[in-house]
Amino acid sequence: MDFVNGIDRDQLVMMDFEANVASDSWARIVDLFVEMLPLKELGFSDVLNEQGRPPYRSADMLKLLMYGYKKKLRSSYALEEACKINLEVIWLMRGLRPSARKIAYFRKDNPKAFKQAFRYFVVLLKDMDLIDGETIAIDSFKIRAQNSLKNNFNQKKIDRHIEYIDKKIAEYENQLDDELNADDEAKIKEKKATQEQRRKEYKAIEKELETSGETQISTIDPDAKSVILHRNVVNVGYNIQAGCDGKHKLFINNSTGRVNDTHALSEMALDAKDLLGINKMNTLTDKGYTTGLHIDICTKNGITTYSSPKAHSSMNNGLYDMQIFEYDALKDSYKCPAGAIMQGNQVIYKKRNHKVKRYTTKSCEACELRTLCTTNKRGRIIERSIYQEAIEANKRRVDENPEYYKLRQQITEHQFGTLKRQWGFTFTLMKGKENVLSEVNLMMMVYNLRRLISIFDINDLKARLKSLVFQIMGISSLYKAPLSTFYFQNLPQRFCFFLNLQLINVKG
Ligand code: SF4
Repeated sequence: MDFVNGIDRDQLVMMDFEANVASDSWARIVDLFVEMLPLKELGFSDVLNEQGRPPYRSADMLKLLMYGYKKKLRSSYALEEACKINLEVIWLMRGLRPSARKIAYFRKDNPKAFKQAFRYFVVLLKDMDLIDGETIAIDSFKIRAQNSLKNNFNQKKIDRHIEYIDKKIAEYENQLDDELNADDEAKIKEKKATQEQRRKEYKAIEKELETSGETQISTIDPDAKSVILHRNVVNVGYNIQAGCDGKHKLFINNSTGRVNDTHALSEMALDAKDLLGINKMNTLTDKGYTTGLHIDICTKNGITTYSSPKAHSSMNNGLYDMQIFEYDALKDSYKCPAGAIMQGNQVIYKKRNHKVKRYTTKSCEACELRTLCTTNKRGRIIERSIYQEAIEANKRRVDENPEYYKLRQQITEHQFGTLKRQWGFTFTLMKGKENVLSEVNLMMMVYNLRRLISIFDINDLKARLKSLVFQIMGISSLYKAPLSTFYFQNLPQRFCFFLNLQLINVKG
């Protein structure tokens, strides 16, 4: 029977790499994109070789990483191997084979440059009119860190371990009081010494935790925190904040640090506004971001928030909720359901996440409605956030524009799915906040570039990237193909950005 047969392995083959890489290959897009970036100005340093050999160009290393991050090849060993066996990578790297160590060092040594490159790309997309900055949706996703749950401690966990160790030590001491043969005694003494050593280690961690002022500490990656990864699954990781533009759902900015979103809104929104150089914008965020302080900061800075309102805590205890108390802004007082006027004492009280003013009335003492209103012996106390006006205005906006608020999910969530499910970005390979953000910046740069393939026809995108390469190299006259008209629309703005990179470096 006839079968389809391969070539004879002993046959000499003349191979043209150019012909082996498809015209719509991701490698070709990455190649053009990286050539367009002003890598030196963005802060990339070339990878030095030992003993005076010429260094690897940072452009080649960045191309390798950008290619790999879309193809689930993130570890330096996988990338090193790809340089030897993957035809597209061999084409992209022009046969260069940097070692895994070199690849890892390049990624580790350039965190600021990755950030600048991503931000440069975002401004370029704004110039290309692909980002309009009208609506920015902010959301977060979690990734696992290079730190196991076993190596993450809070005071409760340390206490539990020390209690167990103390019990064990006491047990060994009791056993040593009995008459034992020399062998058994030596064994028990050894076990006791091990537990004493462990106790010392936990005490050292406890001291470190105390000095850090944090509620938890990770011993392998100190910046990693215990986070809820999915439903009730807790692991050590990072909470990555991401801002996305409403026009083409492209990533704008990112950040990490806190385990939840409570204090991320104004930081992310102001950063996006600053980066895009716009005067006003809207933000869409879920309930986790609704904090009076941050809504107020945004409002004062020309940012209109649409953040899902949180129910007031008074709505859950079965007593009169705060909404039915009428506030008089002129007199700064409340009218209660019994018609009494509740005055504030003008003191501002600091609570965990906010500041409040308190309002009370003496009428509570003899009030018939008291059992429906409060269980407090001193009568009902209304706590009004000092940012209440901003909170209420935000609530009104969300209530009056439900369709607009619904855009939030469409703008942010599917990117996270692509990054995590398709490209395997469920964990980081790096340690430390800054280096983890290198991976995030790389991922987001790759995502935005991949998204351009969907927005444009691939050949159109290649032509646009080529034109950018030549423009930035200042030799556009050598490029004969017609340049896209859009490219010239905001040329001065982009070159201003280019010239101002140093300034942004300082800010970043
Ligand atoms: S208990 Fe106090 S606050 Fe509540 S309805 Fe009566 S008077 Fe008003």
